Formats: sequence, structure tokens, C-alpha cells
Amino acid sequence: MLYPKSLVYQRLLDIIVTLPVIDCHEHTMGPEGRPKYKEPISALTHGYLQSDLESASFGLDRHECEKIGNPDLSTDEKWPIFEKLWRATQHTAYARVTKLVLQHTYGEPEMTRAALDRVAEKLAAMDEAAYFRQIDQANIQAMLVDVIGWLPKGLESFLDGRKTFPAKWRPLISLPGFHPGKFDWYSIQWVGGLLDRHLTSLDQYLEAVFTVFQRLIERGVVGIKDQAAYDRILAYDLVPKGEAEKLFNQLLSDPHHSLGWPASKPLNDFLFHEYMRFARQLNLPVQLHTGHMAGIYNRVDKTNAVYLTPVLELHREVRFDLFHGNWPYLGDLLFLGKNYPNVSLDLCWLHIIDPAYAIELMERAVQTMPHTKIHAFGGDYGDTPEYSAAHLHIARQNVAAALTNLIEGGWLEEEQAVAIAKDWFFNNPNRFFNLGFAELE
Ligand SMILES: [Zn+2]
Repeated sequence: MLYPKSLVYQRLLDIIVTLPVIDCHEHTMGPEGRPKYKEPISALTHGYLQSDLESASFGLDRHECEKIGNPDLSTDEKWPIFEKLWRATQHTAYARVTKLVLQHTYGEPEMTRAALDRVAEKLAAMDEAAYFRQIDQANIQAMLVDVIGWLPKGLESFLDGRKTFPAKWRPLISLPGFHPGKFDWYSIQWVGGLLDRHLTSLDQYLEAVFTVFQRLIERGVVGIKDQAAYDRILAYDLVPKGEAEKLFNQLLSDPHHSLGWPASKPLNDFLFHEYMRFARQLNLPVQLHTGHMAGIYNRVDKTNAVYLTPVLELHREVRFDLFHGNWPYLGDLLFLGKNYPNVSLDLCWLHIIDPAYAIELMERAVQTMPHTKIHAFGGDYGDTPEYSAAHLHIARQNVAAALTNLIEGGWLEEEQAVAIAKDWFFNNPNRFFNLGFAELE
């Protein structure tokens, strides 16, 4: 059973919903980044649900399906196709997020055409601040955000102080831009440009990246985040510097030259290992995407965290935060969490990819590895805090379910379960990311 019907579950959930939360992963810029949705289907199908809608679209007219994501079309134009796809996807966990947003934000119990008209009226009346208040209402105390890699005015705007974040935001360095799959002269000089330097060698490039990281720390970043798994296999070889430098020099010697994937792999791998050395030197924890990717038509086999084993073992003074439950490779992830003291598991996004898997992972993690190495929640949405709050609602139910199963199975006492929930939602990420909050007793 996914959510136990017992009193133990209800008691535990009643406590868990009151606990403060450190949200370990979001992509929010703040109120100014919020999409200006005024059409209800656009406002209710933000983010991951679109993947499930696409997954259900076989045999349907592509042009019709694309209407759903277009915020400029009217609800009447979208409704016939949306209704068909919604009917097919309404029971997925992504759809549950939409149902919760529909209920909690707009007060509508069900997705109907008439309900959408009422949502449209509320949309017209709500401002950004109303949505962002949901972060406080959900008792989120801090949010780790991966967003400085795609600010509208570039990373420069964060480095020079033009772009600032609200108090609860804790930004991370977005690493892919510093080892792109498609590498060229311009991606090298982009780093130089952040410091007003023209770069003429690999050594100068590395020194520039290190200086950028130092300046970003001064601006408040708390770690490094890398989602290169979208574009490459997570196997990072130890490449001799000379081999990487040869490729780097090819790019430097001609701005028309570029290295695609996999030709850039040796250079890319070399740089990644160098950045892990920077992480050790600068005491920056490293968040890594593993497992399932947003969107459809991507290959999940290349993202299995087990490919990271040599990285985790070599860079043992670097703290690694492995994302998304490595879905669907559960056993491999538990092995890494159990076997490497420098590895923690971050369940961001996982609760709405596959709730039953998340519950199984948490139950087995309690029995296989220290409970001090689990970070329970990250919303992983953009500037739509109502989605993150709905996601957190599901995450709290999942945590309560996993812990209830362990209590009812004779593994834990209730008070031990409550202590674990406090650690998972708050104390563990607070310590791991050096956030400086007082420990939750
Ligand atoms: Zn993310």
C-alpha cells in the first residue's frame, strides 16, 4: 500500500507537515522570473507534466499537441486535445502535482472546463508575491538554487552584484558551462570574459575558472551543481594533462574549430577532475544529476551513478550529493551511499518521478546506510513555487509512509522515526551544505 491507512501514519504525517524544510534543489530566480501565465492550461501544465502529456500523444496530431504549451492560445483552442491527454495522464505523480496546485492554489477540486474558467479569473487577480508566499507557508527555510548558469543578463550580472536573490535563496555554481560537451574558442573565452581576461593557454583557463569560483563564493554560492548527465555518460576518465591540452590548443589556435561529443570527452573529463580538486580546495559540496532526465527521448543508461564510482573514490575529501534516487537504478545508488563516506543521497524530484520507488528507497536506506546521509526534499521546479509546495506535500506523505512501514514492520520506534524525519528534511542538508542554522532538536 502506498500510503498506509493507519493511525501511526496519520500521527507521523501530522508531525512531519510541521517540520521546517531545507529545499535542496530548485531552479528559481525569484519573483521577477515568474512566467506571466494568464491562460489556465498553461498555468497548470508547467514543467514535468508536459513529458507525461507527450508520452501519451502517440497517434495524435503533433500540431494539436503543441498547442498545449503555447501560452498565447486560448483555453478553448487547447481544451479538446488537452482533455484527451489529461484523461490518459491524470493518475501519474506529475499529474498529482497539478491536481494539488488546482486544489491548494485555485480552490478547485477537479479538472473540468468550467473549473478552468474560474482558474482564469483567479490567475488574473494573483500577483507574483502571492505565489512566492507559498515557500514560507510550506515552512521552507532555505532553498538551494541552480540558476546562475542561465540568468538573463549572464553570470556576469551575479558576479558584479547586479543580480541578487531573496534571503532564502542559496545559489550554486552551475558546472556544465565550464566543461561543455560541445567545446570551442568561444566557450573558452567566455570564462576569460567573466574576468576581463583574454585566455591563451589551458593553465590560464584553469586559473581563471578557479578565480571565478572564488569570486562566486564571495557572492554567496554554497556548492557546485552539475547536470552533464543530460549530454554525456557519467564515466569520467583520468586523462593525462598533455592529451587534454592538445585538444584545448586546437580550439585556441582557430576560432572556427570546435569539438563535438564524443571528440571533446578527454578534455571534458580532464576538466571535471580538475574542478573536483577545486571543490576540495574551496570546501564546496558537489551536487550531481544521476538517473532519469527531464523531457523524453533521452538515454537513461548513461546516467547511472555507478559510472561515478572512480570519481567518488578518488575525490574522497569532496562531499557528493547524488540526485534523483538514480532512478531507476536503486540498488546501485544504495551501494554508493553505503560504501563511500563522502556520498549523500538527495531525493530531490524523486518523490514525483516515482513515489513508490522513493518510499522503497527510504525504507531500504534506513536499513542499509547511515540515516545522516539522506536529504529528503528538493522541488526541482522553476519560478512556480506552487508546484514546489505541492511536490513537498507529496514528499512529506512519502517520508511518512516509508517511516510508518518501518515502525509497523518492527524496525523503528515512533520517536526514532520522528528524529529521522527531522534529520532528512533539515539537519542533514543544513550540516552538509554548511548553511549555519541551529540544529533541530
Ligand atoms: Zn534540477
